[in-house]
Amino acid sequence: MENLLLILLNSVITSSIICLADRVNNHIPIFINRSFCFNCDHTLSWYDLLPVISAIITNFKCRYCHYHYGFRYPLLEFFGTLIGLLLFSDSSLWITFFLMLFLALEDCHDQSIHANILIPWILYLSITPWQRDIHASFIIVILTTVLFLVYVRHSLGAGDIPPIICLTLVSSSMSFAFTLICATVTAGIYIFVKHQRHIPFIPFLLIGWLLSIVIEKAITYLL
Ligand SMILES: [Zn+2]
Repeated sequence: MENLLLILLNSVITSSIICLADRVNNHIPIFINRSFCFNCDHTLSWYDLLPVISAIITNFKCRYCHYHYGFRYPLLEFFGTLIGLLLFSDSSLWITFFLMLFLALEDCHDQSIHANILIPWILYLSITPWQRDIHASFIIVILTTVLFLVYVRHSLGAGDIPPIICLTLVSSSMSFAFTLICATVTAGIYIFVKHQRHIPFIPFLLIGWLLSIVIEKAITYLL
């Protein structure tokens, strides 16, 4: 029963984050209107909104206009729920994941994010007792490098600063170093393959960070 409630909680939060990002990206007011189809504007019933399940039942189409919305939403809902479940035991990681998911979805849309939403969370993380193997000197080095990349090299956007600080505060030194290397390498491959000059960096940062957590947990489990 407890597991079922946890699945439900994480799937509802994931679904709400996706909905919130969609509304912000499409300049739709957040607090008015029930969920509706972006193609035909039909208001969706509760049974159209069951994470993953509704998409499978309706064959990934809108029940009213039959618009095929693809696999993006159910895949995001599935992996968001799964990762939420895996991180639930550590509230710092759990909350950081959902905040980063929202920013990654925003970044994918038009490469601009509301990074300031992280500031209260960064302040909270800064004043809570340090539980991870990270040193102030490491944070200073990271901050200096990031500021150099943003304001001198212009290879990162200013919006990338809060997410990077946030991940620094919830990771160990090794884990964060891996996150940055992984994000930079995968982003570089993406630029090379897609021939794009500007790409959203937050999704790569999020993937690198999640991989670092998986590897860290695997190492802890094996040792
Ligand atoms: Zn529709």
